[in-house]
Parts: sequence; C-alpha cells; structure tokens
Amino acid sequence: MNNEKIFTELQDIVGKAFVSNDPEELFLYSIDPGASEPHPIDFVVMPRTTEEVSAIVKLANKYKISVTPMGGGLTLSGLVIPVNGGIVVDMKRMDSIVEINRLSRYALLEAGVSTGQLQAYLEEHYPELQVSVPDAPPTVTVTGNALIHGSGFLSHQHGDHGSMLNGLEVVLPNGEICKVGSCALSDYWFTRGPIPDFIGLFTSSFGTMGIITKISIKLYPKAPVRDLVFGLFKKSKVIPELLYKVTSTELAEDILLGAQGKPDWMKGYIFIITYITGKNREELDKKEKKLKKIYRKNGARYMKAPPRIRDIFLEKPQFAAKAADFRKGGGFEYVGSFFPLEKVAEAMDRGAEISKKYGIIPTLGARIFGPTHTVMVFFSYSFNRADPDDIQNARNALHDTNEMTLELGGIPWKGELRAQQMILEKINPNYKYLLKTIKEQLDPNNIMNPGNWEVK
Ligand SMILES: Cc1cc2nc3c(=O)[nH]c(=O)nc-3n(C[C@H](O)[C@H](O)[C@H](O)COP(=O)(O)OP(=O)(O)OC[C@H]3O[C@@H](n4cnc5c(N)ncnc54)[C@H](O)[C@@H]3O)c2cc1C
Repeated sequence: MNNEKIFTELQDIVGKAFVSNDPEELFLYSIDPGASEPHPIDFVVMPRTTEEVSAIVKLANKYKISVTPMGGGLTLSGLVIPVNGGIVVDMKRMDSIVEINRLSRYALLEAGVSTGQLQAYLEEHYPELQVSVPDAPPTVTVTGNALIHGSGFLSHQHGDHGSMLNGLEVVLPNGEICKVGSCALSDYWFTRGPIPDFIGLFTSSFGTMGIITKISIKLYPKAPVRDLVFGLFKKSKVIPELLYKVTSTELAEDILLGAQGKPDWMKGYIFIITYITGKNREELDKKEKKLKKIYRKNGARYMKAPPRIRDIFLEKPQFAAKAADFRKGGGFEYVGSFFPLEKVAEAMDRGAEISKKYGIIPTLGARIFGPTHTVMVFFSYSFNRADPDDIQNARNALHDTNEMTLELGGIPWKGELRAQQMILEKINPNYKYLLKTIKEQLDPNNIMNPGNWEVK
C-alpha cells in the first residue's frame, strides 16, 4: 500500500487541514472509552460534503484500504476501532441542520449533527417540538445513535431510534450516492414506504454497508409539563405483571427500571420510574394517582422522590455516567440486550450475579420500548482504565452477559466483535447466507469496517 500517495490524494479531497497521519492524533482514533482492544489506524479524515465522502470511498476501493465511519465514537463497544487499520472517516464536520419540517414533524440532518446540537436548536426555534435523545453525552451524533438502534425518553411511546428514521442519504461501498425512503423520489423526507424498505440494511450493520451522509428523523410534540412517578420493590418476579399493567394504561411517556448497589439507599431495591406528561399539573396529578394504585396492586411501593433525585431523573439526557463510574479510573462498559418481557426479571437477576462474580457494584436497568413489545436491559461494568487486569475483568463480565442473553432468547445490543460472532453462531443459517450475499455484492473489496458482522 502506498501510504504517501493515499495521504496526498486524501488531502486533495478534503483539504490539508482535514486529513491527518500524525501518530498522536491517530492514537486517539485507535481506542474508545470502553474495554475493547485498541488497533492502530493509518489516516483520519474529516469530510465536509457528501461528494467528499464519495471520493474517499472511491479512493479506498482503488487502494483496497479499509474505511470506518465514525460519529461521536461513544458506543463503547469498539465499533469505530478499525480492526484492519485504514481510514477513519470522522463525520463531525458534516453538522448542518438542513431542514426542520414542522408540519410533517421531521428533522433533515447531516450525519455529524450531535444530539445536544439538535436539542438546543429545537428548544430555541421550535419549542413545541422534541427529538428523543439517548442518556449519552450530548456530543454523540443523532445518526450514530439511530444507526445502532439506540433509545431514549420517547422510546416507550415510539420505539427505538432506528425506527424513527424516515430516510437516508448514503454513500454505498462503491462510492455511489444513494437515497432510501421517500427522499429517493420526493422532496419530502417523510416516510420509509410504501416502497421496499432498505433503511434496515443500514441499522445495526455498524458501517459495513455504507456511509450515511444525511438522515431524516422523526420529531414529536412536546407536552407543557412532565413529571415522574417513583416506585420501589424488592423481588424481580413482580416485573412482568407490573410492567404489563403500567403499560396497559397508556399513561407513560417513558418507563425505566433500575437496580444499583450504590448509593446505599438504592441497595436491595429495584426501582421503577414512570414518566408522565400533560397540559397542566392537574392532569399529572390524575395520572399519578392511577399509577400509584397500579404500583400498590402489583407489588411495588410508591415513593415520593426527593427533589434532588427528581431533578436528576427529569433531565434529558440524564447524567448516566455519574452512576456508572464507581470503580474510578474512568472506564465503563455500558452494554445492553433486547429481551422479551417474560425474561427481564431473570436477566436482571443474572446481570447482578455477573457483577458480583467480577467484584463490580451492580448497576443495571431497563427501558420499555412500546407497550412491552421489547425491553432493553442495560448493564454497566465499571473498570479502572489504568489497570489491565481490571479491563480484562470488565471484558469477562461482558462476555458472560452476552452468553446469558443468548441463552435466555435475548439479543446483545451494539455487540462488540466477539458478541457479533456469538450471534452469528446461533443465527439461522439462511440469515447468514442473506447477509453474506448482500455484503459481497455491495462491498466486493470488503473495505467497509471489516471484521464487523463477518460471516466466516
Ligand atoms: C454515559 C453514556 C450513556 C449512554 N446512554 C445511552 C442511552 O441511553 N441510549 C443509547 O441508545 N445509547 C446510550 N449510550 C451509548 C452510545 O453513546 C450511544 O448510543 C451513541 O449515541 C452512539 O452514537 P455515536 O455518534 O457515538 O456513534 P459511533 O460510536 O460513532 O458509531 C456507532 C456505529 O455507527 C457507525 N456509524 C456512525 N456514523 C455513521 C455514518 N455516518 N454512516 C455509517 N455508519 C456510521 C459506526 O461505524 C459504529 O459502528 C450511552 C453512552 C454513554 C457513554
């Protein structure tokens, strides 16, 4: 591979200031904040336009060098650490909010727009509209999060963020620019169908099918007031009926479960937080009264949340990292798995056991997507980044969690390379055939984030 030539050609595409092969800068792109193995990379580029992305991918095909798209780089499972080195395409310069369609309620964004940026823009210009954001740092991209089936405070009502996508502009692995969804034939990016729906090809495929340059994401009305109804219980066995009954009321905006060994007052309890919204306080009071009754009838105790706790939990996003870093040293694996409701109690119990086995303070929880259609159970394994044994400890906890998830019939979310292989080992053989066939057709040089979803 002629690295000097590639470097000069990349400079010609994006300009000298936006390509680097400096070891110090490359180092930052060879790691992520989770426990995944680092891998050295060759170049990082920051394109400004779709045409530049297209030219980068065409160049990568010419030299058969790997390309890994990156948003905020905060997925924590090594998905933007290029296994074979090559070019990391950092999308953060593509940060225009192209259009807010107020009436059809969608935002058309370049792929580098962050969740914090969109949230702030809506608050200033369209205060009656909102976007569902993850409880992640506000520097993560709306695109990166939607592409990994992320979730946030509107996922109970409207599903995971991948399902909120209306359309994509994508640079395919051959460098050609393609549109999927209504934008393929209309000026309006308002729907995925009624044409064959290819958006799913690009979600949870971790940059292996192309580089997304624009997305349309759904926006939702924002209610004037919002509050939460806090409850506690000790035995996980109450979870299925409690969630079934709470969701049957259709009163909730969001529903979270949590179980933490720290702070001390949380130890030994599982807590449920049901978020409610309305036009005024009176409406919230009515909803709260109904939910209190359901909590009591189904094995949970209502608790008035102290103002400090209430304020933390009402933030959008919540500051989740604060709870996770019990170990100190700044590392935590934040993993999740999608489960059917009937397996959530066992998954949470076993997640807590895995934490204890590895000497980690249990920190886990769940978010309900739709009226119990899917439950995302999340596990956090903190580690000391300066201690290699402790990093390995978190990796082992992660591996046990993936095994447990697959055994219970769940699916690991945003799985690191090893988890992806565990999924592929269990998956229907013809699913594998389909995946391999599509991938080989689209990316015959295997340049797009290789190693991920690799059918061996
Ligand atoms: C404290 C903390 C709390 C969190 N809480 C949540 C939460 O509540 N909900 C949640 O969903 N997540 C949560 N996360 C996980 C994670 O941060 C987010 O999901 C994050 O939004 C991922 O977005 P990103 O921009 O960092 O994606 P990246 O890590 O940059 O990318 C994710 C994947 O998408 C690919 N990709 C990125 N951009 C493109 C593109 N333009 N084209 C093609 N492929 C692309 C990458 O190659 C990678 O495979 C949390 C993380 C932290 C650190």
